[in-house]
Amino acid sequence: MNIRFMALRETFDRSPVKIEPVKKRSEIFEKNVFTDEKMRQYLDKESYREFKRVKEKGLTVDRELAGKIAAAMKTWAIENGATHYTHWFQPLTGATAEKHDSFLEKLPDGESLEVFTGNQLAQQEPDASSFPSGGLRNTFEARGYTAWDPGSPAFIYGTTLCIPTIFISYTGEALDFKTPLLRSSQVLDYYGTQVAQMFNRNVEKVYATLGWEQEYFLVDSALYKSRPDLIMTGRTLLGHPPAKNQQMEDHYFGSIPERVMAFMRDLEIEALKAGIPVKTRHNEVAPGQYEIAPVFEEVNLAVDHNTLLMDIMKKIARRHHFEVLLHEKPFEYINGSGKHNNWSLMTDTGINLLSPGDTPKRNLRFLTFFVNVIKAVNDYEKLIRASIASAGNDHRLGANEAPPAIISVFIGKYLTGVLQELKNLKKGKLTPDEKTELKINVIGKIPQIFLDNTDRNRTSPFAFTGNKFEIRSVGASANCASPMISLNTIMAMQLKRFLEDFEKQIAKGLKKDDAIIRVLSQYIKESERILFEGNGYSEEWKREAAERGLSNLKTTPAALKVLQEPEVVKLFVDLGVYSEAELASRYHVLLEQYNKKLEIEGRVLSDLISNHIIPVVTNYQTRLAENIKHLKDLGIRSDTENLKKLSSDLTELIGENNRLKKLLRLMQSIENEEEKADLITKRIIPQMEKIRVLADDLEMQVDDELWPLVKYRELLFTR
Ligand code: ADP
Ligand code: MG
Repeated sequence: MNIRFMALRETFDRSPVKIEPVKKRSEIFEKNVFTDEKMRQYLDKESYREFKRVKEKGLTVDRELAGKIAAAMKTWAIENGATHYTHWFQPLTGATAEKHDSFLEKLPDGESLEVFTGNQLAQQEPDASSFPSGGLRNTFEARGYTAWDPGSPAFIYGTTLCIPTIFISYTGEALDFKTPLLRSSQVLDYYGTQVAQMFNRNVEKVYATLGWEQEYFLVDSALYKSRPDLIMTGRTLLGHPPAKNQQMEDHYFGSIPERVMAFMRDLEIEALKAGIPVKTRHNEVAPGQYEIAPVFEEVNLAVDHNTLLMDIMKKIARRHHFEVLLHEKPFEYINGSGKHNNWSLMTDTGINLLSPGDTPKRNLRFLTFFVNVIKAVNDYEKLIRASIASAGNDHRLGANEAPPAIISVFIGKYLTGVLQELKNLKKGKLTPDEKTELKINVIGKIPQIFLDNTDRNRTSPFAFTGNKFEIRSVGASANCASPMISLNTIMAMQLKRFLEDFEKQIAKGLKKDDAIIRVLSQYIKESERILFEGNGYSEEWKREAAERGLSNLKTTPAALKVLQEPEVVKLFVDLGVYSEAELASRYHVLLEQYNKKLEIEGRVLSDLISNHIIPVVTNYQTRLAENIKHLKDLGIRSDTENLKKLSSDLTELIGENNRLKKLLRLMQSIENEEEKADLITKRIIPQMEKIRVLADDLEMQVDDELWPLVKYRELLFTR
């Protein structure tokens, strides 16, 4: 039996896994997390107070306190079944990494003891020489250190105490996502607080919030295992579209199959125990596609929770004989997966700075932050594009299923009107009447309009949705930290400039509110090109965007180049988010990653064609030929058209596959990563596409019983 039928046979016996019902979510929420509350229970009063202070101020934990916290953590963890601990971190590969150590240590006298010290909590030296560093670490000093991030609580997963950590080189350079994210949060806090204090003296802290929406596909694990391309690349490199795909749109918000439902329930329970406040679930547009989203949290925690969730999902899915696909484009012809990032700014006084209020004063505060976001995105639109770039996401952006690679901001009709009024302020001093009109009737009347979801534009990559901005073009497998670092940083820079511009107006003798309004009015004029309310998928928009001078960076290598532009380097260096060396290494790591991914895809495709497709088509060709010959011998007229077409397609496929092999060899001989990327985007990808069309067409010509690869209809509709 061919492997496809063996796999399909296995799926026949599947039934939903039984999940113990949970009465109240609150019973399990944070069950496996060493929360501040548990910290309080397990620590002495003095140390707990010190820990809270350190955490709130973003300071580092000293050795003595670390020792006490380690002891408390260990006691709690062992009481709750943990036998090992690990420093859990987020290297640039996008996945999470961990190195497990047992609590158990042998003492010199041969006795064993459960040991976990402050040193082990605060700093670890994983043997991490194989994590990408883009040349920052020489392998002979293969040292990356991990150090606990007190802003993110430790948790137990399985029997392991996981300690969220940053990952830095021996010389202190960031090798991960968390370090720059924390730095970006710090500068955002610094300038954000100063601006927020213009409206409320009591504000002491400003932080970004993130609510992500994670899309994913589920495929049966037996079917998954039968597809070398899924295993090796996370996506299908071949496959004819099924007769039924998403054209009926019956999947969206449709009913969820029982097996999937059991998985979702299980996933929710595990996520809640790990402290991830997951909430919504529904089907997505494509068959086999789903979504999970939590309540938003402080950005650092939200990023940790998303990366943790991606890991948990994969493990839980296996219990249910599913495999989770987080790739941005697992199936050609069918919508891929993204991860909307809802982003806003909050104060320690509990105010959402991007939420319109009910008084003119509150709305001036709202408008200040709102317009500054627009200006920041306008000035650094390319950086936003760069921060969502990946090989997988290249398939989505601009493919009319996700917002385009062109970054623009959607704000809705009402706010467009408000900005118009502000922009058209007349020069010089306003009369008292004009001022009243502006404050009461324009600024004062901004209602909380969007929360009912009526004013939406799904084609926009960066949309205001009532009390937050939603970045819609993030890839499903991405680490959210990447766009969040950029967004926090450009916002910090913009708020810094705002403070300076405000002071200039004050120096001219303007009163506070008037000075703010003047500066905002100026910003609106300067960032008009980024505002777009129309259809982001349309061809006219591409032309218009080009006229407006907006970038349209279609490939990852083109987008990544932005990280080398002087103004981007200056932005990060000036605000201390990346050093020049860190940024350069990041560029290098990301480009190399892109090249490696595509090289693997190219090789897997060419192997599949050589070992799976060509032999099967040849086999079928022989059968057809023999059949025609027999018929001819019997004097029966036969149709030779099928054989002719199949034969010529087969010859073409063999030729194109040989060409791909040659290109891949050429690629391997190139040392320079940029030249490599160039060859990939200009020649290898188009060649792979050509081959795919031929092979998918042959899938329709060959006897179904011979076809070796599980077909799209089977992958997408077997549950
Ligand atoms: P939709 O699918 O229509 O975009 P959802 O309700 O699925 O809407 O998602 C909204 C997301 O926005 C949720 O993840 C939610 O937590 C998040 N969100 C709501 N308010 C904020 C906020 N102030 N900051 C960040 N995220 C937020
Ligand atoms: Mg959304």
